[in-house]
Amino acid sequence: MAVKKPFLKIQCTVCKTTNYFAKKTKAMAEKKLELKKYCSKCRKTTPHKETKK
Ligand SMILES: [Zn+2]
Repeated sequence: MAVKKPFLKIQCTVCKTTNYFAKKTKAMAEKKLELKKYCSKCRKTTPHKETKK
């Protein structure tokens, strides 16, 4: 049985590739998440943001 969990997709703001998944926490819900993450497509560290469906 699949349980629905509030998962966020963390997307590269440069190439729009979804690189990471994160479990949604209360702290994340309060403010827009922005992370500096390595993007394998850009091949560098880029700002990543949560996406919504
Ligand atoms: Zn990228």
